[in-house]
Amino acid sequence: MGVNAQAAGGILTIDLGAVAENYRTLAGMMAESATVEHPAPLCAAAVKADAYGLGVEHVGPVLEKAGCRHFFVAHLSEGVALRPYLSPEMNIFVLHGPPPGTAAEFLAHDLIPVLNSMEQVAQWQALARRQERTLPAVLQVDSGMARFGFTAQEVDRLARDATLLEGIRTVLVMSHLACADTPENPANRHQLETFRALAAKLPAAPRSLAASSGLFLGPDWRFDLGRPGAALYGVNPTPGGPNPMQDVIRLQANVIQTRDVPVGQAVGYGGMFVAKRPTRVALLGVGYGDGFLRSASGRGTAILPLRPEVKLPLIGRVSMDSLAVDVTDLGEMPLAAGEAFDLIGPHNPLEMAAEAAGTIGYELLVDLGGRYLREWR
Ligand SMILES: *Cc1c(COP(=O)(O)O)cnc(C)c1O
Repeated sequence: MGVNAQAAGGILTIDLGAVAENYRTLAGMMAESATVEHPAPLCAAAVKADAYGLGVEHVGPVLEKAGCRHFFVAHLSEGVALRPYLSPEMNIFVLHGPPPGTAAEFLAHDLIPVLNSMEQVAQWQALARRQERTLPAVLQVDSGMARFGFTAQEVDRLARDATLLEGIRTVLVMSHLACADTPENPANRHQLETFRALAAKLPAAPRSLAASSGLFLGPDWRFDLGRPGAALYGVNPTPGGPNPMQDVIRLQANVIQTRDVPVGQAVGYGGMFVAKRPTRVALLGVGYGDGFLRSASGRGTAILPLRPEVKLPLIGRVSMDSLAVDVTDLGEMPLAAGEAFDLIGPHNPLEMAAEAAGTIGYELLVDLGGRYLREWR
């Protein structure tokens, strides 16, 4: 590890080749599900929250090179930040639509809003009128999640009164699934049918329903455009089963110091861990201030890459800037300051680390953030 990696408490390595590979896997699934109704299904990418914490300035161009043409962010600010890193012909969709008074910003940065409410429709239409031209937009319907999008009543209003969408060119009709990570849940089929019924009342346009897990529910859910995010970044879209995606991140934390702790000695805040045997402890320079969640206290696992068969338990509370690992089971092996342990790696994957912290891969991924040295490969 170089001096930069030592200057930070740890290093987050992001395998951009694996992101591209994951994209091609999902784009292949989309292509395979072509039907007469959906002749050329494509795969978009959700790159909101700085590409789930992995650096949209790196991830965006890699996805474009892998063939992606459609990018989804949550906020206008994220779209503005992404635009310079993509070719001008790339489509950037802003899921939350235009906040009041911002419609012109969308044009200035060539962003396409997802319109979720009648207010957003009116705002976009007013801009189209001022511009004296037709403006593109995505229409989102609520198919049963009660998050964003038009209700069935609003869809009926839009269907009855064509003037409401005058000046708006519908480039996509979309909805979002609430329970796609539990394939046996009948809500999935129900949302699928509701989506079909609602989309049929809106202007003819390509359709999009599935994010990462939704793509794995089967071809029926794929329509014309998939919108995966998490799966691109290595999160398992089929929780409980084997992960069909490649691992993307590795999180290594550096040893600050080691110490020998006698029987009966408490370690860390709150004295939560008490040594029951003479214990060798390594203090690593990563904590909850780095997004390594405090809820992993006493539950996570660290791995020394040279001895991957030895699972080393995190002990005591995770501090803001550090955490403690019981390294007794490494025996007499010398451990120098600066030695790197995997907190997330090939032997303790993201899913495991997330589970130890009582959360899901998504949350751990976006929380990791930028305090580490981030290295893109
Ligand atoms: C975040 C998001 C996605 C991507 O979801 P993943 O589960 O990460 O694949 C797709 N569509 C919408 C509307 C989203 O909010």
